[in-house]
Amino acid sequence: MDRLIDRHRAVLPNWLALYYSDPLEIVHAHGRRVTDSNGKTYLDFFAGILTNALGYDVAEVSDAVRKQLDTGILHTSTLYLIRSQVELAEEIARLSGIPDAKVFFTNSGTEANETALMLATQYRRSNQVLAMRNSYHGRAFATVGITGNRGWSASSLSPVRVSYVHGGYPYRSPFRGLSEADYVKACVEDLRDVLQTATSGDVACLIAEPIQGVGGFATPPDGLFGAFAEVLAEHGILFISDEVQTGWGRTGSHFWGIEAHGVTPDMMTFAKGLGNGLAIGGVVARGEIMDCLGANSISTFGGNPVATVGARAVLDYVRDHDLQANAAALGDRLLSGLRDISVANPVVGDVRGKGLMVGVEFVEPGGMTPAPAVATRVLEETRALGLLVGKGGLHNNVIRLAPPMTLTGEELDEALGILGDAIAAGSGATE
Ligand code: PLP
Repeated sequence: MDRLIDRHRAVLPNWLALYYSDPLEIVHAHGRRVTDSNGKTYLDFFAGILTNALGYDVAEVSDAVRKQLDTGILHTSTLYLIRSQVELAEEIARLSGIPDAKVFFTNSGTEANETALMLATQYRRSNQVLAMRNSYHGRAFATVGITGNRGWSASSLSPVRVSYVHGGYPYRSPFRGLSEADYVKACVEDLRDVLQTATSGDVACLIAEPIQGVGGFATPPDGLFGAFAEVLAEHGILFISDEVQTGWGRTGSHFWGIEAHGVTPDMMTFAKGLGNGLAIGGVVARGEIMDCLGANSISTFGGNPVATVGARAVLDYVRDHDLQANAAALGDRLLSGLRDISVANPVVGDVRGKGLMVGVEFVEPGGMTPAPAVATRVLEETRALGLLVGKGGLHNNVIRLAPPMTLTGEELDEALGILGDAIAAGSGATE
């Protein structure tokens, strides 16, 4: 058993099966490009897995991390004060816009959402949770239990009781075809109906992704969650925005995805892009909610010095290079380029997204029947042509595009050229 893929399959769960038939091993990365063990270089249009907001080999981040390594202090301990942890928390609290905000650092998005759910259920003394259909929030006990996407929900056992709400996935919604205003109205009615008929009323929270990541970059209309928040406020229900994929300016129009909805949530969770590859996540919450955590609620590695100095360098870089504006400008070009490509390719059912978070959903021509074989073919064709993209969606028929936010216009044009060819080739894979 010499091949790395065989050794991987022998000792690790087989998540690689979701992507390439012959997975690649990355041995070098720089800018927006990665090189595999055969020496082939690719433009990365999935930013790792939205982890590398800045791309690869970013001197400012590497230098900050190296300097921390040189102090000899890599570990965290609740016995000590950690300056970079305090400073990062101050910055995230300020950026959140949440009044009197406090931050709890974790090592992943899953842990961040587990913590947020624990906080909400403690604060509200209720284990009832609302989540969106087609959602994904992580792979631990509570988070996997509330996932609204069967392909990603390995467990039907959960410490929380969940009810699902429509709205996150307009393309396959029963309210499809309505004007945006009527769509929002219909979703609000559904939320009220779910509250009245599927819960006992004393619900802890609604958790939602502003754009559904694993769910295929499904993008609800702006304002939906603002309208939901009014209903939630009537019942004292907390609102958690899961910004694991949508934070740090990726959606272009705003720093946090939820800002497009005109609402400040009670809590936000974050991870992925903040560390540019380093393991860091967390929750930012109103102080009185965060205070539900006792002094002995700690995370050994959460907010460790290496991750927090790296994350501070990432946030400085995002601000100093105005990457949010870059995401907005190039995101618009990406969306319109893909819409142009879709005209000649009836397998494209939907092109959607915001900023540098764009999904292309493939269907059988002339209808809406999901065409996962087309998405798989496009994934393989793009790779052959030197472009890495993501795949996903409820029916595994969506190509997900989320390049590093440092993307250049030339790289965008290169990717659109490859996508045009790959989608045309993929059109032959409908049956
Ligand atoms: N929330 C969202 C929206 C995600 O997309 C993910 C991961 O893809 C998670 C939470 C879980 O994060 P992690 O994989 O870091 O545990």
